[in-house]
Formats: sequence, C-alpha cells, structure tokens
Amino acid sequence: MRDNYQMVVIGGGPAGLGAALSARGDGLERILIVERDVELGGILNQCIHNGFGLHYFKEELTGPEYACRLIDSLEENGIDVACDTMVLAIEPTEGGQRVCLMSANEGYRFIETQALILAMGCRERTRGAIQIPGTRVAGILTAGTAQRYVNIEGYMVGKRVIILGSGDIGLIMARRLTLEGAKVLACVEIMPYSGGLSRNIVQCLNDYDIPLLLSHTITNIEGKKRVERVTVQQVNSSFVPIRRTEIDYEVDTVLLSVGLIPENELTRAAGIEIDPRTSGPVVFENNETSVAGVFACGNVLHVHDLVDYVTEESANAGKAAAAYVIDKQSMHESSKRTIAVVSDDSIGYTVPQKIRPTFIEKSIRIFFRVREPHKTPKRIILRDDDQVIASFRRPYMAPGEMEHVTISKDQIDQIENNQLSISIEA
Ligand SMILES: Cc1cc2nc3c(=O)[nH]c(=O)nc-3n(C[C@H](O)[C@H](O)[C@H](O)COP(=O)(O)OP(=O)(O)OC[C@H]3O[C@@H](n4cnc5c(N)ncnc54)[C@H](O)[C@@H]3O)c2cc1C
Repeated sequence: MRDNYQMVVIGGGPAGLGAALSARGDGLERILIVERDVELGGILNQCIHNGFGLHYFKEELTGPEYACRLIDSLEENGIDVACDTMVLAIEPTEGGQRVCLMSANEGYRFIETQALILAMGCRERTRGAIQIPGTRVAGILTAGTAQRYVNIEGYMVGKRVIILGSGDIGLIMARRLTLEGAKVLACVEIMPYSGGLSRNIVQCLNDYDIPLLLSHTITNIEGKKRVERVTVQQVNSSFVPIRRTEIDYEVDTVLLSVGLIPENELTRAAGIEIDPRTSGPVVFENNETSVAGVFACGNVLHVHDLVDYVTEESANAGKAAAAYVIDKQSMHESSKRTIAVVSDDSIGYTVPQKIRPTFIEKSIRIFFRVREPHKTPKRIILRDDDQVIASFRRPYMAPGEMEHVTISKDQIDQIENNQLSISIEA
C-alpha cells in the first residue's frame, strides 16, 4: 500500500469494483480499494442464487460468479486492494482527502487521495429498529444474517420459520430455507403490497406454496430460550392491529426483511450533504457529492434491486473521478448552472438530485421509486415549469422495483428554469 493514491475506493462490493475498473479504463494508474471483509465481492458472495447480470452481462449468473468477473478484471488491471481493512474516517486536505484506515497488518494508517469513491453498501434494519413486542429470545435474525449462516458459514438457522417483511432478501431466504429442509409457514407484510420484485414473489413464494400475508404484522414473540410462538395480526389502513384477527404460529425462527439502511456514518461525519429520502448522499449527474472530488455509487447512494444498475452507476462514478483527477479542475467551481430534480408525492426519491448540463455528454438516466403500486398504465412526465420535456409510458410500477428514465442532452438543454419536475399521471 502506498501513502498516496489518485483514487481510493471505500468498499469492495460490485459498486467499488465497478468504479475502480472504470477509472482505470479512463486513465487513472494509482487506485486503491479498501474492503473491511477478508475478501472482495460484497453482498454478492452470499447470494448463491441465480438472477444476476441479466442486463449487464446478458447472462444469468449467481452472485459469486458476477463478483468473480469483476475481481478477475481487477487483477488484470493492477489495482491495489487492501482487504480486512476498515476505513474509520475521511478528512479534507488541500489536495483532496485523507483516509484513515485500520487493519491487523498495517495498524492505524493515513492515505492521501485526490479523488474518493464511497461504495460502502447498506445494512439491514433489525428488531430494535421496528420494536416488535415480546420476549428477547434466540432465533430472531435478519434475513441477510441467515443467508450468510446458511450459504457461507454452513449453519442451518431453524426448522419452522416465519418471515416478517417481503423485501427481496426475505423472499430469497424463504426459498433457500425451504430447499434446505425447513418449513416456512408464511411471509408477513404490513403494507398492502410487497416490497420485493414480482419475479421473487413468483419464484420464491408462489412456487413453494408459501403464503404472503399482506396488511399483516407480527404483534408478539414468545419463548423461553428460543422462539416458540409468534402472533400475527391483520392491520388497518393506519397500520393498527385489528382485534380478533390473531393467528398463532408455532415456529423456532423469525427472519426479518424489513428494510435496508445505506451505510453513511463516514459520509455524515465528513459533512457531505445527505438526502433524507434516500438516506444517501445528494449527488450530481456524474455521482459527485456535495464535496468536490468525492463520488458515491451503489447501495450507499440508494438501495438497488438489481446489481446491473449498480455496475452501470459505478462506471459513471469512476469515469467522473478519473476526469476530476486528470483535468485537475473542480467540477463544482467550473459549473455555473445547476438544475434541481424535484418530484411530486407519488415518487419517493430521485437520483441524481441535481444536474449540471455542462457535464452531460449524450444523455442522463434518472432513477426513482414510486411510493405506491400502479397496476394500470401510467405516464411519467418530466416538466420544466408547464412545458413537457419528456413523457414515458409504463404498464405497471411498484415500490419494490426501481424505475428509471433516460433523457437526452438536447432535452436537458431545453430546460429554461433551474428545476426539472417528475410526476406520475394517468
Ligand atoms: C439477499 C440479496 C439478494 C439479492 N439478489 C439480487 C438478484 O437476484 N439480482 C440482482 O441483480 N441483484 C440482487 N441483489 C442486489 C445486489 O446484490 C446489490 O444491489 C449489490 O450487491 C450492492 O452493491 P454495493 O457494492 O453497493 O454494496 P455491497 O455489495 O454491500 O458492498 C459494500 C462493501 O463495502 C464494505 N464496507 C462498508 N463499510 C466499509 C468501511 N468503512 N471500510 C471498508 N469497507 C467497507 C462492505 O464490507 C461491503 O463489502 C441482492 C441483494 C441482496 C442483499
């Protein structure tokens, strides 16, 4: 490891790997990836199911296969890697950023870098975050933790299982545990619709006759040492449990799949602006954050459903970081005009949140999630004041599936005000 790099990447998941490869392809020579785990690959290493890479590699790969393709290219490109090493802080310096890291081999160490990529991924919400009543017993774990136990450590987590939340990790684990011989009694979702991809509902629940109980939640967990019984109740439109709808399930395991939180402690401490809607940094069209030379991509920016979009986004971030280092020019200073992307209540968030027309080469992709399912065809309308800039038809949209629209540089150049609004209309 050197003392000085052109670019440091925090996180060796698909986002970090993609950003490093793209920056290398665009001319950077001294790049370091710092990963706190003992190996690269991030969350993909524990996702041994298929379904990865359909858009990017045009093939159906498992998570480790997808990661392996990126890791092999990394080795061919001579990019430095520090595994088993954790970044503890980032601080601004005159020439860029100082990264403080810690490892058994290196101890506590500072590395200077001109550009920085934030690619720390996200973590799961736990029982404490949603405050399920009941006894504090063994057998309650997040779906991702169960996935790691079963797929990497080789431990089975339970025999009779109930899953709270219908996020993709929970759905995938419903199928995985069934294949390993457990009985999954139900997947319980408080919302009137699922938070996961439709394909996962079909392939992981319907194909194995696992019921999905919408507008239901777990209202009690009982047991002495380990979970013995849970109570499930229907909820009303204000999410209040309805009396006399209680159903008791004899189970030994509760898996939680109740949301992901982008890992932005380092980002917040560095004073980088955070969007409360995504819990990730606010970024411009090239993934640059509110601090010049610091870029973000992957799940640390917003929670992705498909890794292909993570790779695409990270390529954008790596390319921009290379341009930042090579041109020795602050993009913040050189860009005079910024357009804010705003949305109505039907949309949960947009990424990017800001666009600098100067830096768009051909087109820009805007990602967003709808707040509620739209089961009939709708239009996504982009407006500059009253003027329609672009309109896209979608036959179906759901909060569990990330949406995107692509707008050309010509369309961006038509915007006269400094605001681009997005709405969903009939
Ligand atoms: C269970 C599950 C199933 C999925 N199924 C599919 C699927 O079928 N198809 C599909 O396309 N996508 C799927 N996805 C989505 C896809 O895997 C993720 O979107 C993608 O892995 C996110 O990549 P990332 O690099 O942003 O984050 P991660 O893969 O989480 O990588 C972040 C890395 O940063 C490291 N890190 C964090 N903080 C620090 C620090 N301070 N210092 C050093 N290192 C740090 C972490 O250790 C981690 O390795 C699935 C995701 C999950 C969780």
